Amino acid sequence: MLQDRFHYSPLPGRVVFGAGSLAALPDEVARLGATRALVLCTPEQRPLADHVAQLLGERCAGVFAGAVMHVPIEVAREARALAASLGADCAVAVGGGSTIGLGKAIALESSLPIVAVPTTYAGSEMTPIYGLTEAGEKRTGRALRVLPRSVVYDPALTISLPARMSATSGLNAIAHCVEAMYAADTNPIATLMAEEGIRALANGLTGVIERPDELSARAACLYGAWLAGSVLGSCEVALHHKLCHTLGGMLNLPHAETHAVILPYAAQYNAAATPRVMARIAAVLDSRTAPQGLHRLARHLGVPQSLAQLGVRHEDLARVADQAMRAPYPNPTPLTQAGILDLLEQAYAGDEPHGAMQ
Ligand code: NAD
Repeated sequence: MLQDRFHYSPLPGRVVFGAGSLAALPDEVARLGATRALVLCTPEQRPLADHVAQLLGERCAGVFAGAVMHVPIEVAREARALAASLGADCAVAVGGGSTIGLGKAIALESSLPIVAVPTTYAGSEMTPIYGLTEAGEKRTGRALRVLPRSVVYDPALTISLPARMSATSGLNAIAHCVEAMYAADTNPIATLMAEEGIRALANGLTGVIERPDELSARAACLYGAWLAGSVLGSCEVALHHKLCHTLGGMLNLPHAETHAVILPYAAQYNAAATPRVMARIAAVLDSRTAPQGLHRLARHLGVPQSLAQLGVRHEDLARVADQAMRAPYPNPTPLTQAGILDLLEQAYAGDEPHGAMQ
């Protein structure tokens, strides 16, 4: 049934997709009129960044290999200073959400255009969302100038992403899709993309776990990640993302693993209020219910399934539930302290989600 009222404002951007498409990167930089690209990467991905620099030839002004998780302000300042001193007129971010996040931190100040070459399934390349960490606090915001102008998706670059990281990164992307489908500002196009994203990621991730070197499974994941990033960029997030942010911030938990654990329970919390969305997700996952399908997918992928496995102590749960109630936001099922605590209890145990939590 068609949603009766909605807004739709697509974001600009360009995508080059396919195995071997890294070869098109120089053309993408040239399309922007750029002649002095600064290549960004993590220390671990330096060899790939050097290869990219070679590919860009004279259009490359330098490589900054200092990207780290959560974009510390000091690293952003260092990269901004290097970009300025080299006279860079474009940033080429080669890597996952951390590297693309660094590109965004540069663009936030300088409006330098970004070409992104994603190598994980985080989806940051499709969003105008940036994050910067200063004095232990992560500040996020939205600005169109940080949205990459062009994205080169080359599935061959994700073959090296270990199966376990692929699974958690991909489940994080599925979480973007699930929340977009019941977002307060969702629309029929976002819902279509999100549903297709879940399908592509669920099939692709299953393939990656069974055959990590298979290009077609990697391509399915990257396609799903693109869709997931797109809907994250255009719809508000709700309980799942907010709770993962609270958990991560308070207990210093790993980002993607926390998403993997919480998703089935956040879906269960919102299930009664969103029956049509849940029916669509359940159908895509070939499962009786959406929360059950999400839980079984995570189990099949072999990722952590409980907060206990992530090292959370039971006595921390009430504190997290209290904190989660502090800043209200729209969510299909109204937020209550008791409901969130019940969700956390179930996620702590890690059993298949059951019953209403609100
Ligand atoms: P990441 O970018 O932190 O990378 C994790 C590690 O994987 C790094 O050591 C990196 O070098 C390595 N790596 C990346 N690709 C690889 C590959 N193909 N082969 C081998 N190793 C590889 O991880 P991530 O999950 O992509 O990003 C997480 C960050 O992105 C978080 O800080 C999250 O908040 C942010 N994020 C932002 C948005 C947004 O819209 N702004 C969206 C999603 C995630």
